[in-house]
Amino acid sequence: MSQTKPYIMAIDQGTTSSRCIIFDASGAIVSMSQRELKQIYEKPGWVAHDPLEIWGSQLGVCIEALVKKSISPTAIAAIGITNQRESTVVWNRHTGKPVYDAICWQCRRTAADCERLEADGFGDVVKEKTGLRLDSYFSATKLKWILENVEGARAAAENGDLLFGTIDTWLIWNLTGGKVHATDHTNASRTMLYNIHEMAWDEDILKKLGIPSGMLPTVKKSSDAYGMTDEMFMGTKIPIGGVVGDQQGALFGQMCFDAGMAKNTYGTGCFLLMNTGAQAISSACGLLTTMAASYGDTIQYALEGSIFIGGAVIQWLRDEVQMIAHAADSEALALSVEDTNGVYLVPAFVGLGTPYWDPYARGILIGLTRGASKAHIVRAAVESMAYQTFDVVRAMSDDSSIQLQCLKVDGGASANQFLMQFQADILGLPVERAAMQETTALGAAYLAGLSVGYFKTIADIMALAKENTTFAPRFEEAERQTRVTKWHRAVERCKGWDE
Ligand code: ADP
Repeated sequence: MSQTKPYIMAIDQGTTSSRCIIFDASGAIVSMSQRELKQIYEKPGWVAHDPLEIWGSQLGVCIEALVKKSISPTAIAAIGITNQRESTVVWNRHTGKPVYDAICWQCRRTAADCERLEADGFGDVVKEKTGLRLDSYFSATKLKWILENVEGARAAAENGDLLFGTIDTWLIWNLTGGKVHATDHTNASRTMLYNIHEMAWDEDILKKLGIPSGMLPTVKKSSDAYGMTDEMFMGTKIPIGGVVGDQQGALFGQMCFDAGMAKNTYGTGCFLLMNTGAQAISSACGLLTTMAASYGDTIQYALEGSIFIGGAVIQWLRDEVQMIAHAADSEALALSVEDTNGVYLVPAFVGLGTPYWDPYARGILIGLTRGASKAHIVRAAVESMAYQTFDVVRAMSDDSSIQLQCLKVDGGASANQFLMQFQADILGLPVERAAMQETTALGAAYLAGLSVGYFKTIADIMALAKENTTFAPRFEEAERQTRVTKWHRAVERCKGWDE
């Protein structure tokens, strides 16, 4: 494929860092730059970022990625943005100044407010309209908190002086020199303000939470013409063509373009998303219903499951109990024994997410006998990621009646070959590990490329598929069942512990 402008720039604004990756037309990385982001913990359970640091560091890494490889900004065909989802910024539309820190998705400051709203019966309304659980993770109550707690914010908002945005919106607004106030379907669907069936900001929810609709951005497709960057930043105007929340970005980057295709990202936590096509499936099993990346005439939905402690269980082994020196050591230790010798570890350190949603569950190590060794415990920890993933996959097939054919995987802990093989064994499905691990940024780049004609069709993108590594399942059904049954007995015993 020859291009007059050979590259796509992906902006990847994550919870702990701002990154920029420049891709060529084959989907290969040409340049990359990254900066850590300061975490602000004002009180226990509160997490925030400085919006100006987010914007400044993001612009900084974009320029650095260009400079590093002497790439001219005029060689960039389009910019794609992917971002930490749900985090909330409110700023003054005249001065561009944020009125408060960016309240991070992890922040629990509005948990009590959510409990009150839930007691009011508002949870059902939220689920029906937005597909989400009424929870402080999402933007809505964070925005409400700013309006109620920052001096003068409510009056200014009602006067039309303030704008709201998730991180993508904040970056688009700054990159376009304050000209464009917009977001995409995937990010809008995480605000808890957006009706995913009508595809509009929901008047009832806005009214209930006291949020003026004039603050909200225009919602566009994930692959769309968002506007041009102001030339003061990179010396030329570059079209912003793709915007997508990080997990949906990875779903797209993993080429899960059709209903029934799913990916799991094994990071600190695990996020499993399944494309459900044009159908928004309401979950009876504790999954979230959300929008997948949209492009052309294609509007798609996804089911999402979250596992709070994924790779973090390995960090715990390393840092707290010091059974291993490096995360990668977990693999050799796990493989040094034939099985866990009956040991199960349920890492419910912060409660359990999908499908249990038990905030009072706590971690449990069970099945210990005199013969239980460090290797057995480490193996049980690694296996816990696979069992938790099994529970989410089963919830998805129960909800959707779609049987997965294969699970695509990425993220730091997917480097563990033992884990990947065990995952395939326990699921009874092939597990396909991405050759190119930067699936999130790649998804944003694909979406940006589609909107400017750099890629003409989805087929152009599919032609770029790399040779992934596939792990084939090996367990007999009876063996799989026995192990899963034991796991569920362990889970039962850790529920409600801290109530
Ligand atoms: P995040 O994006 O959430 O920061 P990453 O995708 O970088 O996470 O993955 C890091 C996580 O993966 C850490 O929790 C780490 O413990 C885990 N991890 C990294 N390498 C391995 C490995 N070889 N085996 C098991 N877990 C690993």
